[in-house]
Amino acid sequence: MGARTRSVVRKRAAWLMVGFLGLFGAISGRLVFIQLCRADEYAKWADKIRWARIRIQTTRGTIYDRNGHPLALSIRTSSVFANTREIENANLAAYRLSALIGGDPKEYLARIREGRGIVWLAKKIDPRLGDRVKRGWLVERGNWKRYERIPGIGVWFHNKRIYPAGTAAAQVLGFTNISGRALAGIEWKFDETLANQNGEILAEVDPKGRVLPESERRVKTEPRNGNDLFLTIDLNAQHIAEQALARVADKFHPESACAIVMNPRTGEILALANIPSFDPNNALKFPPKTWANHAVASLYEPGSTLKAVTVAAGLNEGISPNSVLACCTGREKVGKSTLRCSLHYPYSSGHGAVDMHKIITYSCNIGAAHLAMRLGAERLRRYEEAFGLLEKPHAGFSLEAVGYLPKADRWSTVGLANIGFGQGIAVTPLHMASVYATIANGGVRVPPTIVLGTGSNGKITTRPKRALPRRVISREAAAKLTEMLVECVEEGTGKNARIDGYLVAGKTGSAQIASSTGRGYLPDAFVASFIGFVPADNPRFTIAVVVNRPKGSHFGATVAAPAFREIAQKLLWYYHVPARTPESERVRQKNSGSKSLV
Ligand SMILES: [Zn+2]
Repeated sequence: MGARTRSVVRKRAAWLMVGFLGLFGAISGRLVFIQLCRADEYAKWADKIRWARIRIQTTRGTIYDRNGHPLALSIRTSSVFANTREIENANLAAYRLSALIGGDPKEYLARIREGRGIVWLAKKIDPRLGDRVKRGWLVERGNWKRYERIPGIGVWFHNKRIYPAGTAAAQVLGFTNISGRALAGIEWKFDETLANQNGEILAEVDPKGRVLPESERRVKTEPRNGNDLFLTIDLNAQHIAEQALARVADKFHPESACAIVMNPRTGEILALANIPSFDPNNALKFPPKTWANHAVASLYEPGSTLKAVTVAAGLNEGISPNSVLACCTGREKVGKSTLRCSLHYPYSSGHGAVDMHKIITYSCNIGAAHLAMRLGAERLRRYEEAFGLLEKPHAGFSLEAVGYLPKADRWSTVGLANIGFGQGIAVTPLHMASVYATIANGGVRVPPTIVLGTGSNGKITTRPKRALPRRVISREAAAKLTEMLVECVEEGTGKNARIDGYLVAGKTGSAQIASSTGRGYLPDAFVASFIGFVPADNPRFTIAVVVNRPKGSHFGATVAAPAFREIAQKLLWYYHVPARTPESERVRQKNSGSKSLV
């Protein structure tokens, strides 16, 4: 090799060296860049290969009645959709889907053609049908068989909320939408208790995507089932109340009506029914006004049923029940207004000499008005307040109205007289049921409630803190008033509520509906009601029936008392409450040492 050749080789080697150095520099620069700047990105990419996301489905809590009958529960279901952008052959997709899950292929086709993007083809179907769609269509060519996904057709597995009791207690329960979001009622009010949280776990997988046994797991979202909720409702009592209201609807075609059954000792609501009702399984197909829980959310003028509060106040304030007032003609002028009594047989021209017994038994407005005036606005209002009429019941319902009554210093004399017989005050049927429960419970008010407790796996684990009972009137006043309410049913306007073998205490109400302008009353628009308790000598049930705008009659005695009687009679049978016998009567009278009714 000559010197010239050697020099060329050296030069080339040098250049090669420079080239290698450059390449090495570039590679290490890249490595440094990756290490320093894009490490996170690459680590994530590696993780994606190593970790698989696993979703854990959980369920919303169940709502039970007091005996463990489910009123609302979640079951697994599936819904099938089309993504119109991915559909390759609409005709074929519709035909294959119909072959897999049934249904009219023409309808599927129309929906796919008319829709854009995601179109629902079948909602809330059996999850086994969903599995079929997920598996796909069986393609056979000779010996070769394979399931193929139908392009553009997908399945969503989710939970469906069902209400096994149908329309029963629908307004109490409320409902959820298809995604399980609570929209109304107890479902909405107790969403925090009932709501579940689907879990998400990352699990280590092998290169083929199979989960490695005994490998690491990372919990992204802790899965949590919803808690169960137990209501005080007894589904059988609920059905009894619903049936009675259905009969009222058949006969009097009211705009709406409600019935409440309460245990006066505990304040627990055993039944609460509203008509017209709706099916929470299909709530959106019913007019929204059917969703309203009128029994707790709608204010009305209670009318004569409120006379019980006026008389309770009189008795508790030491006014003699026998002090006599006069109702000479059934009409009386107070200021510029005329008070009127509604007169029924045997009274054709005024109730005559009226005491507290007669105010209750024959529903004398003028007597109640005079008693109210004797008590005075301040004192009477204190009792309306003590009976809980002006507060929110906090019984556990989604929407509860607060009673309305102006401050006492704003009452005119005629205003005070009107409030004495239940006009010029607005309350809910639940407020009134609670008043009669207080009388039944010897004058002690136990606040109403719809919630028995919360728990899991169908068992109660926690009972809610209850508001403390409070005494509203003395035991003696309550006993005297009960005696009058029994007279009302035995001899007075409440005769239609009588039940053989049991003492019934109760009061009728027929109130005109105030016009929305706040001046005067609507012609021919009434609320007919009957509220009471049974058995009067050992109260088990307080029952309120309130019927809004009945047709044919507007009297509580005709419209509401028979429904009260029906509910009371069936409850007495269902709960095996013993009837009075001549023997039990003698023992009772001997023990009490008096001949009084209660
Ligand atoms: Zn009268």
